[in-house]
Amino acid sequence: MSPISPTVSPCHLPWQTIETVLLDMDGTLLDLHFDNTFFRETVPAALSRQRAIPFGTAQQQLHAIYRAVEGTLDWYDLDYWSRQLGLDIPLLKEEVAHLIRVHPQTIPFLQALQHLGKATYLVTNAHARSLELKLQKTPIGAYFKAVYSSHSFGWPKENSAFWPLLQKRIGFACQTTLLVDDSESVLAAAQQFGIEYLCHIAAPSSSQAASPSERFVSVENVQALWNGLKLIS
Ligand SMILES: [Mg+2]
Repeated sequence: MSPISPTVSPCHLPWQTIETVLLDMDGTLLDLHFDNTFFRETVPAALSRQRAIPFGTAQQQLHAIYRAVEGTLDWYDLDYWSRQLGLDIPLLKEEVAHLIRVHPQTIPFLQALQHLGKATYLVTNAHARSLELKLQKTPIGAYFKAVYSSHSFGWPKENSAFWPLLQKRIGFACQTTLLVDDSESVLAAAQQFGIEYLCHIAAPSSSQAASPSERFVSVENVQALWNGLKLIS
């Protein structure tokens, strides 16, 4: 493992107390640049070709459609988008799959969690086919006790109905559980349910400036968590 980065101060979480770690995928472990590029460039370009309309018009049309389903399971459902737009969305995703990347701090962080024996779960809103593609293109899958997509629970993570269902499945204790996510709405739903430790990722995409949360403990990326872990290992 490389030494503690002098530029990132450790995020002080009570790691001795934390037994279960729930990690979001897109933006938290993987660079959100892929998803942003896909929805802002790849899909509008395909729609522009299919409907023979200018790229800008396709972008405007999509913007309205995107806004209508934000925060719902449909937003993450590739089949929904395929039906709605008449495009083969999974195929389009594969075409730009070379952009799928882990954040540079992700693997050392996951290794450290594994080394300390923390029960680590991937908990994502990603659709099964999207999840499968990302687990194929990156090595993160090897580090989890289990991987859960909110689609199999019928609610997205932003909805407080999701959390008791996940707890029933995993059996975690709220008082000893940490959730790391780049979505404030997801963290708020988990907080409402009672998960004790919440951490916001402020820089989900390598191509955008960090946007720290004022509501939750907020770190740019998992480097600060990794540095905190190194202090106890
Ligand atoms: Mg995310």
